[in-house]
Amino acid sequence: MERKITVSQIEKAAREAYEESKDVKGGLNANYIPYLANVDPDLFGLSVTLTDGTCFNFGDTQYKFGIESVSKVPTAVLAMIQHTPDGVLRQIGADATGLPFNSIFAILLENDHPSTPLVNAGAITACSMVAPQGDPAEKWKAITGNISDLCASDPVLLDELYESETATNFNNRAISWLLKNYNRIYDEVDMSLDLYTRQCSLGITSSQLAVMGATLANGGLNPVSGKQVCDKEIASKTVTLIASVGFYQHTGDWLFTSGIPAKTGVGGGVMGVMPGLFGIAAFAPPLDDAGNSVKAQTAIKKFMQKLDLGIFSGDKVSIVEG
Ligand code: GLU
Repeated sequence: MERKITVSQIEKAAREAYEESKDVKGGLNANYIPYLANVDPDLFGLSVTLTDGTCFNFGDTQYKFGIESVSKVPTAVLAMIQHTPDGVLRQIGADATGLPFNSIFAILLENDHPSTPLVNAGAITACSMVAPQGDPAEKWKAITGNISDLCASDPVLLDELYESETATNFNNRAISWLLKNYNRIYDEVDMSLDLYTRQCSLGITSSQLAVMGATLANGGLNPVSGKQVCDKEIASKTVTLIASVGFYQHTGDWLFTSGIPAKTGVGGGVMGVMPGLFGIAAFAPPLDDAGNSVKAQTAIKKFMQKLDLGIFSGDKVSIVEG
């Protein structure tokens, strides 16, 4: 079915989704990273950016929270830019693990394969693949520069979060060395892990993540800056990765109930991509048992329901003035 949705319908749906989700209770801040445990649990923001660059923001959309696992998305984009999607498929993979984000068991089960750049193992491997090899400062520049391009503004390193993660990332150290054992780390091990830990510790706003989502929804062309960040194939492959594993072991339930591919992070951020239409991001620290923000999930689902949208609906939806 051909459908037209007006810009003001989208704004209204976002405002209502925000208002109706504000008082949703439940969940707990991530407690395995001390910094995250202490973030104000009542913070909440919802942002939408359309593929024409129009932005809507409600609530705490300028608060810089830890990007955490949402950072796996831009680094997957960068790895595909530098090594092609086939290279990433070969060197990392694109399979959902069906297991928690930091699973060691998943690496053993996959028979030495990190599975996908959107779980910890694959994301550490992706950091090891970032060029130029052997040069942590330039690699870091490439990682953050790519995030700036996707968001049309810069992320900032949250030093306290970085220290907190570095002091407690024992599980990720185990993952890194296990991957090294399987020849799946393509640069120096500790440096690759440090880059991963640092990228997770970047402060980002929901408003920035909505622009990143809109860039992916727009075939890699950032609608705010006008810059072509990656080609259309990479943007589309990135959405495929998000759809298959963005919510870890709850990905199927999420896609089934929300109708939108989205990536979460334990900092409380969720970034959704609706190809051709918009990017959406919500942020609220309390998480469910799989590490996904309770309030952000509610707000995004409500928004999708109000507009009767779903990526697999078969509708040809266009956004029009009005
Ligand atoms: N830095 C976190 C970790 O590696 C990210 C996890 C997440 O957001 O899912 O454990």
